[in-house]
Amino acid sequence: MGLKAYLNDIVEAVVTTAKGMRITARYGVDPKEEVTLQYPEERWEIPQGYRGFLHNDIKTCISCSMCVKVCPVDCISLEAVRGADKKMVLASYDINIGRCMYCGLCVEVCPPKSLKHTAGYEMASETRGELILHFIAEDAAEVKARVARQVAEAAAKAEAAKAVDLSAEAAKAGGDDPKAAKAEAPKAAPEKKE
Ligand code: SF4
Ligand code: SF4
Repeated sequence: MGLKAYLNDIVEAVVTTAKGMRITARYGVDPKEEVTLQYPEERWEIPQGYRGFLHNDIKTCISCSMCVKVCPVDCISLEAVRGADKKMVLASYDINIGRCMYCGLCVEVCPPKSLKHTAGYEMASETRGELILHFIAEDAAEVKARVARQVAEAAAKAEAAKAVDLSAEAAKAGGDDPKAAKAEAPKAAPEKKE
């Protein structure tokens, strides 16, 4: 390296440092130029459309599994059983936010829009398991057992109602048909001879 290039490097270093210090000084004295916040006391305003942690409003979720199928990294899992009213009942709905890449595809496909991104972005955990969000507090096996009981009770009620209808129909048919009525009428007790 020649002497000229060496001196040029020194001049360039001084100029670059001076430019940097000028910016630092400006940001340091002008409050409007603040670029840092006293986090966590102060926070940035979350922009509209921000894709934070997911939340599923399970009261409106229809257990269609569209979100599960569309997720590219398989971080949503759900279990659902058919209830007594023929509608699906969620037994479990979990999202692994440690795996989620916040692409928003699951939110896009959700028919009732029960699945949404929130503005949440802070979370610390010691284990990976804590990064799985459970949206149904009740144990899945308990939910399934409860729904199975309700289905069985509804089936028993339907059977009983059907039996009542059939016997009512038989009674009506017997009343309309004199032969049937005669056949079904109780026989009179024989008279005693004296
Ligand atoms: S935002 Fe993307 S990665 Fe995250 S759960 Fe939804 S589909 Fe999966
Ligand atoms: S797509 Fe929406 S409605 Fe369907 S299972 Fe997922 S969260 Fe529920």
